Amino acid sequence: MPARPRRKPLVVGNWKMNLNHREAAQWMIDYSGMNDAWEGRMAASGQPLDRPEIGILPPFTSLQSFIDTLGERGMGKQLAVGAQTVSDIASGAYTGDISADMLSTLGCKYVLVGHSEQRRYHPEDDDTFATKMRVVLDNGMQPILCIGETRAGREHGIGIDYALRQLAEAVSQMDCEDMKRVIVAYEPVWSIGTGNVPDLNVIESALADIRDFINAAFGADIAAAVRILYGGSVKPENAMSIIRLNDIDGFLVGGASLDPCSFAKICHRTAEASVTRHQRPASRGFKRSGRMSIAEFKKPDIPESRRVLAADVAREFPDTHSWRLSLALAAYRTAGFSWLEVRAVQDLIEAVDAAGSAIEEDPDMLRDIIWDSRRQIIEAMIALIERDAVQGVYSVNQWLVESDPRLTHDERCERLVQAYASSTCRRAYHYMSHGDIDYDVFCTYFLEGYLSCDANTDNRRWRRRGIDRYKSRPWFPSQQDE
Ligand code: PEP
Repeated sequence: MPARPRRKPLVVGNWKMNLNHREAAQWMIDYSGMNDAWEGRMAASGQPLDRPEIGILPPFTSLQSFIDTLGERGMGKQLAVGAQTVSDIASGAYTGDISADMLSTLGCKYVLVGHSEQRRYHPEDDDTFATKMRVVLDNGMQPILCIGETRAGREHGIGIDYALRQLAEAVSQMDCEDMKRVIVAYEPVWSIGTGNVPDLNVIESALADIRDFINAAFGADIAAAVRILYGGSVKPENAMSIIRLNDIDGFLVGGASLDPCSFAKICHRTAEASVTRHQRPASRGFKRSGRMSIAEFKKPDIPESRRVLAADVAREFPDTHSWRLSLALAAYRTAGFSWLEVRAVQDLIEAVDAAGSAIEEDPDMLRDIIWDSRRQIIEAMIALIERDAVQGVYSVNQWLVESDPRLTHDERCERLVQAYASSTCRRAYHYMSHGDIDYDVFCTYFLEGYLSCDANTDNRRWRRRGIDRYKSRPWFPSQQDE
């Protein structure tokens, strides 16, 4: 069996929007205390010390002071620093944004690209992430590209394929030299911050598929060089069993990195496992021999029949009437929407608009048909939010605004609150405050959402309040209580 390639293990702590610069300094003191004690124990027991590379991604406002403290404490060689995101643009009138040049001048080594929270809460798409990868590399830093499927994707059987397509999109403009410097973090979205970790064999097979992809697209040398991290509810208790898997090179740690003691333990487990790691044989070769083009991976996995149907409907307009469009949408719905189909639905919307401007006779009737069709599309898109299957959620409000002027602002807000209430997005509250939505109504939606879906979501607080409010009502069924 071939020897396992040596890749330096890497553990990265992502602090998200936590720890101000004072707390960051205290974190450092506590972490270095833990680390010194561990290194002392290792030295006393005569065990070899194979330190992993360690990176911390503080919020922007703590970057400079954290870097200064590292220097003052002589820990600059032990810990590197990175940023949680970056602008895809070099400079200019972009209030609030931070450029790659600013980060590299500060001394950042890594930049996270495409973290699922960025994908969810910011209107950015794969093209933007690909550009961000480019600017990070061009400024001498290493992108840590986050990929991973959502819960809905997984339930629809779109697991690792979803992640591979995100990877394919992000690296499609790269050559081998670029790719060598990329770090990939496989983070199933449903595992982040939830305490739910996939089975070890699921993680192992996902990591193998990612390395397979790199092999097929860039060749075996690059596949052997790229580091792949796992992220999603990593804790000191599960770190050891995960780090022993094939193909893994370390962790991206969120919640547990806020506690210096937990984070230090995860680093130590990684170090302990890595001493023997490269001595073990690599257990497998690549699944795909031969190279594949990245485009192969980007092919949407919508069954041909459904793609053809959508394309037909779009092509046949203007002869197609709204019932045909409904048919197409019904087919999409029954088969289960995925993010991939959002694009196809967008095509349909464009086709509807094109038809609207092409036909001049009987404009009133046509306008009704078009609005009808658009409403159905919007309903379908909202159904997507409700099932938590779409990430570009900002555009839905935009569509509501643009597509049907007959909807009042409050009606729009109400639809969106209703939709978000049963998803895991946090934006429902935002729409409540923007629309004239009664708090009682708001809580009712959350209560309904809570009762109809997984309770372990970001909206738990609002659902809890909804429940508390309605529990006291005589009609509230007691068995529904948590
Ligand atoms: C993350 O945010 O990248 C992450 C992995 O978070 P957590 O460890 O809290 O699941």
